[in-house]
Amino acid sequence: MSIFDWFAKQEKSEPPIQQQQKEREIADGLWTKCEACTALTYTKDLQANQLVCTECGHHFRVESSERIAQLMDKNTWKPLNDHLTPTDPLKFCDRKPYSDRIKDTQDKTGLVDAVQTGTGLIDGLPLALGVMDFRFMGGSMGSVVGEKLCRLIEHATQERFPVVIVCASGGARMQEGMLSLMQMAKISGALEHHRKAKLLYIPVLTHPTTGGVTASFAMLGDLIIAEPKATIGFAGRRVIEQTLREKLPDGFQTSEYLLKHGFVDAIVSRTQLKKTLAQLISIHQPFFPVLPPLNVREKHHHQEEVMLKMDGKEE
Ligand SMILES: [Zn+2]
Repeated sequence: MSIFDWFAKQEKSEPPIQQQQKEREIADGLWTKCEACTALTYTKDLQANQLVCTECGHHFRVESSERIAQLMDKNTWKPLNDHLTPTDPLKFCDRKPYSDRIKDTQDKTGLVDAVQTGTGLIDGLPLALGVMDFRFMGGSMGSVVGEKLCRLIEHATQERFPVVIVCASGGARMQEGMLSLMQMAKISGALEHHRKAKLLYIPVLTHPTTGGVTASFAMLGDLIIAEPKATIGFAGRRVIEQTLREKLPDGFQTSEYLLKHGFVDAIVSRTQLKKTLAQLISIHQPFFPVLPPLNVREKHHHQEEVMLKMDGKEE
């Protein structure tokens, strides 16, 4: 055997060992394989880059707690209505009872339901933030998601805070039937009061935002921001194609397609999201004077009283 053959043999025999080592490291979670470009990234580097692939810019899914940490200033987050838990008013049962499904998902995710809400500071500016979590039954919107978002928006209206909701949802939660569908109108109503108080609302659409969420608060923003290449739509592609009996264009229901057709105002990379939101909020800060907090309840009562008085007059 010549010396060259010997070196060639050594080189050939080495890769399997490296490969084994790499496979072990992937299994240990040290490395993460990109779903889009298959590049291997050191998991800590990926986390430092806010779960955006450093090679191709693919946006991995983010859990709600991590998203809050990415957006809010350190030690400023105050959760709201953490105590609200879902019930099973319809005693719904598919493959297993809805109540068991809730319990299992709560144990698995450590969440109470599919949204976290609260207030805090973003680059020093006050913000009311809601973040949906796709891990909790596909981020589906039931009574608790609706109620928590509603209370968040009402709190923001009262305190004159801007609202940002990071959406990730498969739509309304069918296990709660009508009660989940009515949340669309309820949240939209709360947003209308927020809008009338001349306050800023920005939904951030992440992969995927579909169904009843798209059909309500995800599309009601003063400015609508989306993450790159997110799936955003109402009904699924197959259902639309079957109904229309037409082939839909490529890239249909993506952020880029929606931006081109005017449904989305900007596509912002996650690495720039905090900076962009903070800039938009600072531009929309009231110049002068800073208005005192608005007491929504009192205002409603006042309106009711006026209406009652008017009724009295007519009689
Ligand atoms: Zn990649």
